[in-house]
Amino acid sequence: MTKGKVAIMHNKQESSFAAQKKLTALLQEADYIIDQNDPDIVVSIGGDGTFLSAFHEFEHKLDHVRFLGVHTGHLGFYTDWRDFELEELVSNLSNDENPPISYPLLDVQVKYHQQDEPQHFLALNEATIKRAIRTMVADVYIKDEIFERFRGDGLSVSTPTGSTAYNKSVGGAVLHPRINAFQLAEIASLNNRVFRTLGSPIIISDSEWLTIYLEESSDYLITIDRFTIQHDGIESISFKIADERVHFASYRHMHFWRRVKDSFIGEV
Ligand code: NAD
Repeated sequence: MTKGKVAIMHNKQESSFAAQKKLTALLQEADYIIDQNDPDIVVSIGGDGTFLSAFHEFEHKLDHVRFLGVHTGHLGFYTDWRDFELEELVSNLSNDENPPISYPLLDVQVKYHQQDEPQHFLALNEATIKRAIRTMVADVYIKDEIFERFRGDGLSVSTPTGSTAYNKSVGGAVLHPRINAFQLAEIASLNNRVFRTLGSPIIISDSEWLTIYLEESSDYLITIDRFTIQHDGIESISFKIADERVHFASYRHMHFWRRVKDSFIGEV
């Protein structure tokens, strides 16, 4: 009897090709079926970027798909297993007694001037809005109440697991992923006697939402994780914690703060 259907997504590194080949054989020996279209489990082999791509490939199946990351480069935030641990991985998957782990996602709605229905996106790390040519001027609303008028390069809105990615580079706080909240961080805000923003990142609760209204212009860039959208006529973008979550298979618990320390600080 089959134990389940597994899709394997990998990057173009030679070590990832080799790991994919070996993992396919091990999974088939253990009575799993390789199914790249309708899997129960998605294994990503590579780095965090590969995991982000695998997530978006299957983001419409989050209600029944669990993800697992194997890293072939340096330690990742979404990748738990190393490519020399594949036998252990398959045996662990077959007797998965690890506690179920899932983390929050960001629901992003882009509203256009000429369209009634907003466009929906899900972000695992973050969404950013930047203006390419001139200063971005945006009104930031929290729960439909004006909070500030932002002027600067752009804004980043991140999930807890995304807080160690782009958010951290723009001075955002690192958030433990068990906290069901999202974060707004400024990208080079203009602050002087005339223009004023809070100037520090804010953490927004799962019962609140954020809306950013933009000046009419055609040079906005919106990024969702690895992807960039460049559209005209954007009126506003709203953010909240999504109803969906990302679920992990055979998640090996690693103390979150140890992972942060190993990645960013090293030996003390
Ligand atoms: P990439 O090739 O530019 O790599 C970005 C780096 O971010 C990689 O080292 C990756 O491992 C790391 N990363 C990705 N997600 C992470 C996470 N949740 N926590 C800690 N580190 C993480 O881009 P990519 O591999 O396609 O990944 C896309 C992500 O890269 C975006 O979602 C964004 O968060 C991040 N990024 C960061 C910067 C920056 O820090 N200035 C710039 C662009 C993109």
